[in-house]
Amino acid sequence: MEIKSVGVVGAGQMGNGIAHVFALAGFDVLLNDVSEDALQSAMALVERNLDRQVSREKITAESKKAALARIKTTMQLSDLGQADLIIEAATEREAVKQKIFDGLLPHLKPDTILTSNTSSISITRLASRTDRPEKFMGFHFMNPVPVMQLVELIRGIATDDETYKAMLAVVERLGKTAASAEDFPAFIVNRILMPMINEAVYTLYEGVGSVKSIDESLKLGANHPMGPLELADFIGLDTCLAIMNVLHEGLADTKYRPCPLLTKYVEAGWLGRKTQRGFYDYRGDTPVPTR
Ligand code: NAD
Repeated sequence: MEIKSVGVVGAGQMGNGIAHVFALAGFDVLLNDVSEDALQSAMALVERNLDRQVSREKITAESKKAALARIKTTMQLSDLGQADLIIEAATEREAVKQKIFDGLLPHLKPDTILTSNTSSISITRLASRTDRPEKFMGFHFMNPVPVMQLVELIRGIATDDETYKAMLAVVERLGKTAASAEDFPAFIVNRILMPMINEAVYTLYEGVGSVKSIDESLKLGANHPMGPLELADFIGLDTCLAIMNVLHEGLADTKYRPCPLLTKYVEAGWLGRKTQRGFYDYRGDTPVPTR
């Protein structure tokens, strides 16, 4: 089956980037969110990011114009019914995702492929509650989507080969690289990355280092392009905490227990860059460590 149109649910950090790369690769994109503001900011951000690519001569002004024209927005989930492929990229909460799939199912074509960009939630479980577990997959993009090369492809227990191959072909068309992961909590990237970030928060919590010394240590001492706390702010501390909870519950091992300090930041609503405050305060000209 040839995939021409894509419905993206959730127009946050990930949704806007996903819409961007699909539109640039020639797919028609319908972007959905429950928030009109989120849709408007997503479109503004896609335009800004396309402009940056034009100024860096990575794409032409014509391709930018054509890509923008391929993205439409809607607050009605039912409008996504005619899409060949659905990519769910809403908030990392199982109940939210469940409600979205429940709302979509009555409107879908029989052969529409369903995917979730979840960072950690069981693909098998999400798939089992739909009418098409064999056409359901994890489709995990990295942040920022237009820049990052990798896409994790996660097969649920029931996912058929045809669906997997169709998604491999889509990744190729996007000019990205696929890594296949089995469906276990947090898959590959976050299974390794999140415990490191959580450990960095423990290091801060226990007073071993400050925000600045922890980030500098990993940048200069391990050659990481970003420090772990800076990276946590970039990902979103609510998303980091949600992933740690999935690892903790899903693998039933105390080594994955989320750091209480991470929970505290999330409870304060200090979610990182998206709320202007996390391990750093982004409200001024330069980020200032909060501890
Ligand atoms: P975000 O908070 O930036 O955006 C989530 C969006 O979903 C918001 O705009 C919200 O209004 C919308 N939303 C909530 N309920 C909805 C509903 N019922 N219908 C439609 N839209 C709804 O979150 P994000 O960082 O873009 O993360 C989205 C997904 O991508 C999560 O599953 C997350 O785990 C995954 N992910 C995130 C990253 C990252 O680095 N942030 C990386 C890879 C994958």
